[in-house]
Parts: sequence; C-alpha cells; structure tokens
Amino acid sequence: MEVLSVPPPSWMTEDLNMLQEQTRKFLAHELVPHLEEWHDKGIMDRSAWTKLGEAGLLCAGIPEEYGGAGGSFAHETIINHEFALAGLDSIGAPLHSGIVAPYILNYGTEEQKKKWLPRLATGELVGAIAMSEPGAGSDLQSVRTTAIKTGNGYVLNGSKTFITNGQHANLIIVVAKTDPTQGAKGTSLVVVETDETPGFRRGKKLKKLGMDWADTSELFFDDAKLPAEALLGTEEGQGFVQLMRDLPQERMIVATSAIGMIERALSLTIDYVKERKAFGKPIIEYQNTQFELAECKTEATIGRVFHDNCVERHLKKELDTTTASMAKYWLSDLQNKIVDRCLQLFGGYGFMDEYPISRMYRDARVQRIYAGTNEIMKVVIARSL
Ligand SMILES: Cc1cc2nc3c(=O)[nH]c(=O)nc-3n(C[C@H](O)[C@H](O)[C@H](O)COP(=O)(O)OP(=O)(O)OC[C@H]3O[C@@H](n4cnc5c(N)ncnc54)[C@H](O)[C@@H]3O)c2cc1C
Repeated sequence: MEVLSVPPPSWMTEDLNMLQEQTRKFLAHELVPHLEEWHDKGIMDRSAWTKLGEAGLLCAGIPEEYGGAGGSFAHETIINHEFALAGLDSIGAPLHSGIVAPYILNYGTEEQKKKWLPRLATGELVGAIAMSEPGAGSDLQSVRTTAIKTGNGYVLNGSKTFITNGQHANLIIVVAKTDPTQGAKGTSLVVVETDETPGFRRGKKLKKLGMDWADTSELFFDDAKLPAEALLGTEEGQGFVQLMRDLPQERMIVATSAIGMIERALSLTIDYVKERKAFGKPIIEYQNTQFELAECKTEATIGRVFHDNCVERHLKKELDTTTASMAKYWLSDLQNKIVDRCLQLFGGYGFMDEYPISRMYRDARVQRIYAGTNEIMKVVIARSL
C-alpha cells in the first residue's frame, strides 16, 4: 500500500524493513481476520495482547534487559504505521508500548522497571494512563484524584474517564495529587496493579462516535490501597515534569497513526474510483475525481515528509514540544479533511458501515481531541511565537 511518492525516511534500516514486513504479515494473519467480530462485540479479544507480545510487537523500543525488543522509537513508529495501514484504528497498543512503558523506563526505579516492563512486553500486563477526569481534561493541573501517604503506602481516591484500554488494563499509571494544596507541584504519577488493589473498580465501557472496539472506560478508586513503591520514581511532586517531558513522543504517536490512516484512505479510494462506473465510465476519469485525489495526495506527501522529519528529530532527541504539537495538530486535521474527501468519492457506499472508509471517518474525529486537543496544540505552538 505505497500510495505516496516519498523516499524512505532517513532513519529506515534493513532491520526496520524486516520489522515492517513481519508486522504486516502478522497483522494480516492474526488480527485483521477478527476485526468484524471485535467491531460487533465492541471490544478486542484480550488474547490479542498476548499474541502481540509473543510476536515481539509490544514494547519494541524497550531495552532487552527489561524484556523489550531493544529497538528505538523508529521501531514503534513502523509498528504503529502498520496498525493504521491495516485498519486497526482502535488498537491501544501504541499507547501501551509508546507511552505507558516509556514512563516506567524513563522515571521508574530499577526495581520498578524489572517488575513491570517484562510483563508489559509479553502482554501479561496491559497498560493504561489515567489522566482525564470528569472535571479535568485539558486542564490537568485541576485533577482531583488524590494519593495520600498513610503509614507505609498511599490511599487513592477519585475517578477517571475516557481511559484507553480501560477494560483490559491491569497496570494503570494514575495522575494524582499527593499534595492537594498544590497545583502542578503537588502532582505525582502512581502505578496501580489492578489485580492487587482493593478499592479499584472499572466503570462501563463508554459508547462512542468511533473507534468502536476500543475499550475506553471510566475507572474508580475508592480508598484504594497502594504500597509505597506504587509511586513512580522516588520523589513525590514530579508528575507534571514527567508528563511534560514525554509529551513529544505521545504527540508523534498520534501523528504516525494519522499519516498511516491517510495513506490507507487514499489507497482504498483510488482502488474504488477505478472500479466504480457512472455515466458509462469509471469515476476516476472525471476531472473532479482526479483533482480531488491529486490535492489529497499532494497534501498527504507534504504531511508524510514532515512526519518523517519529526521522527528523525525525535530519534536524535532534538524534537521540541512546539514541533511535535504542530505534527499532532496538523496531521490529525489533515486526516479528517482527507478522509472526508475520500468518503465523498464513495458516494452512498461511503456512508455504509461495512465500507472501511465510513469507519475511518468516524475513527478520525477523536484524533483532534485526545493526546491534547488541537486547540491546546495551538496554545503550545503560540508560546513559541
Ligand atoms: C476515545 C478517547 C480516548 C482517550 N484516552 C485517554 C486516555 O487513555 N487517558 C486519558 O487520560 N485521557 C484520555 N482521553 C481524554 C482526552 O485526552 C481528553 O478528552 C482531552 O484532553 C480533552 O479534555 P476534555 O474532554 O476534558 O475537554 P476540555 O478540556 O473540557 O475542552 C473542551 C473544549 O475547550 C477547549 N479548550 C480547553 N482549554 C482551552 C484553552 N486553554 N484554550 C483554547 N481552548 C481550550 C478544548 O480544546 C475543547 O475544544 C481520551 C478521550 C477520548 C475521546
């Protein structure tokens, strides 16, 4: 599905080419055949996590000494791009491998890394990050969940909502106030192993506009007892600093799925307009169809080149939050525009659920909302003016 005329990214290697091929085959054989069933059930099978772990497709960027595949963010990017090309829009694995595991790798103690990372890599643990609350999404400083030190541990109270992997997750990084009298400085990240935490409760899987089989959920903590070692790292009050430092990577993960979904939309649409006939000829022969797709392909190419450059900078640890915010905002906006234009070329079939473009249209919408809304991205970019 190479629809864009772009050279391979500067960071592409033989090893990454092999990973790409291996991932493509694995997804086509092991996950894609289940998509309809998951779509109908509204949730992915838990066993898919184990399969991904066995195939080495979880935590590809985590060092081997902690059970990962010993790759880099380039490995994560290749896998995420393949998820998008395969139509696995709802999968929570990029968040598990590219956000949850790196928090533990970057800020955990040696003991915490050894305890959690190998089990995240096999899929025994499914990761989630619980920041958003009913009353606090963009404004994370106002989270009300508290983790109060008592004796030799913490007591966690509060509720979280919109949490990706919420039904399957059994390792959840929770943003909580360890000092509720403070804003950002009183915020910490605590790690909840749900199977060992009395007082933890899952709410319902939320019904959504798109991403039908993503188990986005509410979570509740009612006097949930955590051991002292649940605090990520050794020092309280570091939560905000930790969140801010890892933001560029989170934004690039959304940018990668956006460009992958754009490429898939274009590929499906080009195939369709070559086959569908109106007034006696394939609709690709109408100049409007050609111009629509020529414009989409041009913008997608610009997006792909920018994306690849951002990944290159991130691999060199040179990607700043401003540029990562541009990539998240611009590519997710572009995804929504291109998928909409592609859907139009499918006519009425584009509105039918059984046509992938229809699901892609619904799935695209949230990309402008989560991982920091696109308005918040612009707030961040504007600070650099
Ligand atoms: C499917 C899905 C999955 C998600 N997964 C997760 C997850 O795994 N973990 C997690 O913690 N959260 C998750 N979220 C939550 C998501 O990150 C939040 O919804 C998002 O950050 C926005 O917060 P909010 O919904 O409270 O909106 P609000 O913050 O209330 O924003 C409402 C509107 O106001 C605008 N706005 C807010 N502040 C400003 C400002 N300063 N300037 C200009 N405009 C502003 C916003 O851009 C938006 O348009 C998920 C959400 C969805 C829908």
